[in-house]
Amino acid sequence: MTARIVVIEDDPSVAELVTLYLRNADFIVEHARTASEARKAMGDVKPALVVLDLGLPDADGLELFREIRSHADTPVLALTARAEDVQKIEALEQGMDDYLTKPFNPKELVARVRAVLRRVAGMPGGGRTLEVGNVRVDPARHEVFVAERAVTLRAKEFELLEAFCRQPGIVLTRDRLLEDVWGFAYPGETRTVDVHVKQLRDKLSGADAKIETVWGVGYKLVAPG
Ligand code: CA
Repeated sequence: MTARIVVIEDDPSVAELVTLYLRNADFIVEHARTASEARKAMGDVKPALVVLDLGLPDADGLELFREIRSHADTPVLALTARAEDVQKIEALEQGMDDYLTKPFNPKELVARVRAVLRRVAGMPGGGRTLEVGNVRVDPARHEVFVAERAVTLRAKEFELLEAFCRQPGIVLTRDRLLEDVWGFAYPGETRTVDVHVKQLRDKLSGADAKIETVWGVGYKLVAPG
């Protein structure tokens, strides 16, 4: 399992322990010490899961949780100290995926992370792997493979590829892609789509499914003959 996890934790000893155990369990871990670092880490590449300490120096943990949820349905496992029990309960009511109370056994954290990821993968629509030719997209784990080679994509590249793989052979206009992937109408900015398609083509070298340009209209993903 090579899912990427963002650990948001200001306590260096807890962060070190969590990072160490998750890395030993073959996760790719990115550590953020503050909410502002977390926003940067989240914006770059969508993680498969977030471990979130509710007591951060520069933000209310629950506020940050709501913020994460407003962008994406990324699963969140909360860490809380005893004094934050009230917050913990609130958090669960708001759909936190799981939580641990400090101090906790890091082995248990790894087990909980795996359980959450398995649960998310089993959800309707969430875990269905998309395959076009030798390109495989796993939306639940946020993984892409060309043949058996893992490909690392940035968030928008991933969403773009997912959009193509959900409708292979169908022409998707630039406006449609802007709306689906960037989430809002973005008139006159269709060049953004072109730039991302180019990056995606470069990263998908070796793929037998091709993103073809349909002149004057948009793009379509063509499966091999
Ligand atoms: Ca803390």
